[in-house]
Amino acid sequence: MAESMKGLHRTHRCAEVSVNDAGKTVTVMGWVQKNRNKGGIIFVDLRDRSGILQIVFEGKNISEEGFAKAEKLRSEYVAAVTGVIQPRQGAVNTNIATGDIELIANDIRILSEAETPPFPIEEGIKTKEELRLKYRYLDLRRPDLQRNLIMRSKVATLTRQFLSDEGFLEIETPILNKSTPEGARDYLVPSRVHPGNFYALPQSPQLFKQLLMVSGYDRYFQIAKCFRDEDLRADRQPEFTQIDMEMSFVDIDDVIDVNERLLKKLFKETIDVDIELPIPRMTYKEAMERFGSDKPDTRFGMELKDVTEVVRGCGFGVFSGAVENGGSVRGINAKGQAAMPRKKIDSLTDVAKTYGAKGLAYVCVMDDGSIKSSFSKFLSEEEMQSLIKAMDGEAGDLLLFAADKDKVVYDVLGNLRLELADRLNLADKDTYNFLWVTEFPLFEWSEEQNRYVAMHHPFTMPMEEDIDLLDTEPGRVRAKAYDIILNGNEIGGGSVRIHQDDVQEKMFEKLGFTKEQAYERFGFLLNAFKYGVPPHAGLAYGFDRMIMLMAGQESIRDVIAFPKIKDASCLMSDAPNVVDDIQLDELGIQIKEEE
Ligand code: ASP
Repeated sequence: MAESMKGLHRTHRCAEVSVNDAGKTVTVMGWVQKNRNKGGIIFVDLRDRSGILQIVFEGKNISEEGFAKAEKLRSEYVAAVTGVIQPRQGAVNTNIATGDIELIANDIRILSEAETPPFPIEEGIKTKEELRLKYRYLDLRRPDLQRNLIMRSKVATLTRQFLSDEGFLEIETPILNKSTPEGARDYLVPSRVHPGNFYALPQSPQLFKQLLMVSGYDRYFQIAKCFRDEDLRADRQPEFTQIDMEMSFVDIDDVIDVNERLLKKLFKETIDVDIELPIPRMTYKEAMERFGSDKPDTRFGMELKDVTEVVRGCGFGVFSGAVENGGSVRGINAKGQAAMPRKKIDSLTDVAKTYGAKGLAYVCVMDDGSIKSSFSKFLSEEEMQSLIKAMDGEAGDLLLFAADKDKVVYDVLGNLRLELADRLNLADKDTYNFLWVTEFPLFEWSEEQNRYVAMHHPFTMPMEEDIDLLDTEPGRVRAKAYDIILNGNEIGGGSVRIHQDDVQEKMFEKLGFTKEQAYERFGFLLNAFKYGVPPHAGLAYGFDRMIMLMAGQESIRDVIAFPKIKDASCLMSDAPNVVDDIQLDELGIQIKEEE
């Protein structure tokens, strides 16, 4: 009974008409949100991606056949309605953009019927996410998701405009690549033509964008799909999108400059947020020391304080022991929280333990000046007072301490700081604090692999002033790498690349690759570098996360049209699936019997 479009043309989207169109004949098409049959008069709310328009069917304006069709409409039927716009006769609805008008119908076609959807197609529903994802095509009809995807499209368009005006060329790089594992696990695709061989899906276009610089394209960008087969985490997607870019003949400041202007434009034109330029910069070292994190949320204080020297040699073994072992003792001051119930302090201890702390030492400076502390019996009155003083502790404050290796101390206090901010609502939702974090360590020691691994990637340039340390103290070498942080979230990162053979070779050597191994993996890049390489640098944004923050969403899945869930499966299509034996045969693949 679905009718065709023959001879029919949509003139407007539902919410693209206004009181200025009163008297005009228009044709709108969309889904039935709601219908109320009041006997001789039927009210229908018709919805499309622009919004909702109220339509009035009345016998005096429409044929009998037309009225009969209107009577048949149910939720989510698809209809085309022609009629005349008029100011609304009944009460004005201030909740919708078209709340002061209605469409007086004089013709209707039912373009499609619909079964009752498994959940209401409305904003902010409480339906379980599993059900929403199973029927994602219905979920995507809801205004909140439509707004998110419209914003996503707008940001992509603005990015293309801006970068193209800045002389960047949009160039695609291959999806079927060679596996060059470094960092995450690759997704592999078996080759039919070369049995036993595999392509890898790109974790990022890194090598190809560097090759484009070698080839003289000067400025490249791409809104690129990337794939990483990482361990399951709630807010990770196996495939995600980057705004990826690379520039030739530049140094850090050039990359930062163009990106600050890009961010300013994107945030102004999509969510009307003014970013003041230049965006502040902070070294990795300072970020760790002040915030215990390389992506500090600077919307609130509660900074870490180093009290190592204050407690060195004190009677509290947890503190003095950590110092003796080359670690540190640091604390944060939760202002005004001295009266926090014991139970809540215990739950903070649990948080601290998940980040490697053995316990959590605390001091409550009570309003009457008395002290409640987990370790007061180990300190003299005097030692306690100098510790409180070092923490700027005042009556009413709760002081929390971690004592361990620096790495653990930072991790524990950095995360406690976030936990407390969350509980105490310290971070203003309407504030957008951007920050560049710079001078990352070039290497990270991997306990698992018992070798240095690249903190960013193996093509990242050491800081010129640290190159001499490569041989003597690799752990101290800083990189020309930078991350862009928004409210404690890393939204992008990049680096200046190595363009000198000798530095690159040294880098591979430090990472524990022989020359042969390096050539085996990255030979095409290393060979290309023999033929004239411009100094180059770049950056990539996590596009999904950026949109999530712009749209004020909690989950990355709400800004991706067809996301996967935590175990990397798709509840709608049931991907991944078992394939036919014939397909496997062609690929020369045999599945091991499941145990
Ligand atoms: N390719 C890098 C990444 O995915 C970004 C960059 O260095 O440009 O993190």
